[in-house]
Amino acid sequence: MDLGIAGKTALVCAASKGLGRGCAEALAAEGVNVTIVARTAETLEATAAAIRANAGVDVQAVACDITTPEGRAAALAACPQPDILVNNAGGPPPGDFRNFTHDDWIRALEANMLTPIELIRATIDGMMSRGFGRVVNITSSSVKAPIDVLGLSNGARSGLTGFVAGVARKVAPNGVTINNLLPGIFDTDRIAVTFDAAAKTQNISVDEARKQRMATIPARRFGTPDEFGRACAFLCSVHAGYITGQNWLIDGGAYPGTY
Ligand code: NAD
Repeated sequence: MDLGIAGKTALVCAASKGLGRGCAEALAAEGVNVTIVARTAETLEATAAAIRANAGVDVQAVACDITTPEGRAAALAACPQPDILVNNAGGPPPGDFRNFTHDDWIRALEANMLTPIELIRATIDGMMSRGFGRVVNITSSSVKAPIDVLGLSNGARSGLTGFVAGVARKVAPNGVTINNLLPGIFDTDRIAVTFDAAAKTQNISVDEARKQRMATIPARRFGTPDEFGRACAFLCSVHAGYITGQNWLIDGGAYPGTY
């Protein structure tokens, strides 16, 4: 299927690795010129070179922390008028809510709620005036089914979800959609750290820890950044203009509810 977005421009945040990279690659494969952002210049440049070589599109790399005003200014200076915005950043650390400090909460809100809101605010009027825009926020399945130790994530991401639910309806008449993608477990570096820790705690191999977790997922596997990216690219396509304000779970059937 031709997604109809060749020649568009996308700003993809937190995209040197993992889910963000999957989104950047899938968009680039559709002919979208991408600006990718991540903190570590070396990894980011390597990703940019790989996307350029594979997709033959323009790829700009902006090494910055997207959760800071300076980082957002640098990203927007490189890509001031994106047609597509993919919001993403590292997730907050787990812990007992009793130990989360005010500063921990502010950091989580900055990264997973206020940064996407600032980037939407900076880019959405341009999308509306051009009559086409796509915003995809990478959130988490924890928005739908909270994970107790991820209180910072549950709270901050739910704040973003509530905010965009209202804005999505406001910008829909101008051809702009805003949707959230909710990953369950995907095979990325972030998840590898979790299984290293689980293996040590339970005194089992990392492979065994992964297998045990996979057995709890109806699909019996973890998701891949590639399939996540392709779902994102479809949401950004011309064919998805009637889908807005939605929270799409991509979790191999792990969420047990009907709705
Ligand atoms: P990852 O560690 O594989 O990749 C994270 C990417 O984000 C890297 O490119 C890193 O450089 C970049 N990054 C992190 N913080 C940044 C910042 N402040 N500024 C700029 N770039 C930054 O992680 P992932 O698994 O791809 O996760 C992406 C998001 O999805 C996270 O918020 C994570 O909590 C969430 N999530 C992931 C899963 C999963 O199973 N992988 C599940 C639910 C939610």
